[in-house]
Amino acid sequence: MGKNMSLDIQIDNLNLVLTRMCNQTCKHCLRGERQNAYMNKEVVDKFFNNLYYNIVKINTLAFTGGEPFLNRETLIYIIDTLIKKSLIPRKTICVTNGLIFDTTLMDKFADLKQTGSLVILETTIDQFHKPMNQEKLEKFLKYDFYYYFEEHLDESEILRLGRALENNFGNPFLGLPLMSYYYNNLQNGLVGQKMQDLVYINDLTLLDNGKVAPYAADATWEMLDNMAMIDIEEDIFNQMRLENNDNDFEKVLRR
Ligand code: SF4
Repeated sequence: MGKNMSLDIQIDNLNLVLTRMCNQTCKHCLRGERQNAYMNKEVVDKFFNNLYYNIVKINTLAFTGGEPFLNRETLIYIIDTLIKKSLIPRKTICVTNGLIFDTTLMDKFADLKQTGSLVILETTIDQFHKPMNQEKLEKFLKYDFYYYFEEHLDESEILRLGRALENNFGNPFLGLPLMSYYYNNLQNGLVGQKMQDLVYINDLTLLDNGKVAPYAADATWEMLDNMAMIDIEEDIFNQMRLENNDNDFEKVLRR
């Protein structure tokens, strides 16, 4: 890909890691130890206003962490950026542990919903998460895109990763498909399907530090850092493997 060329890209699952910090230390947290790391506005600008590509469509956007509400400023900035660019995700998901209620932030999610995105904000409380304060829960429930669940996790349902592994519990077999996906990603890097001037990417994760990884859900910080070899400072398409079934399509393999 030439340096001055800009490609249109469509992302199926875009995960934004807003922070590695959390206001809880759940015994089963698969990420591992919390870290003092936050995504800043410069990273957001570089990702959404990149010279090398133009994001034309996002199917599902997930705000993740840590606790995403601990980085309210960047979260608000991202939603404003999406609305300003008319880049409205078909679906927007955010999981919060419910300890922080922030009216400005909630209203911002409501604005995004107004633009047509299917917004889902949810909290699940189990035996590891701190229970929610009733007053706060009632405030959350005033927003029709907020969902609250209570459940009891059986050990067989818990991934033996991160803090669960440190604490020596969880199901070691649950993570096997994830592990093979992870090692595949380690080998292949970021993969996109290129059709003429449009690139489709299934999973793309933007980490707090501006690195790009293929996958975010159910991965420890260490796994994410190992997968994240691409920096948005660089032309990510030059670093990405573009796959296609047609010989006319360009193939780029850098690692
Ligand atoms: S499971 Fe969620 S709430 Fe608990 S420590 Fe991990 S990120 Fe925080």
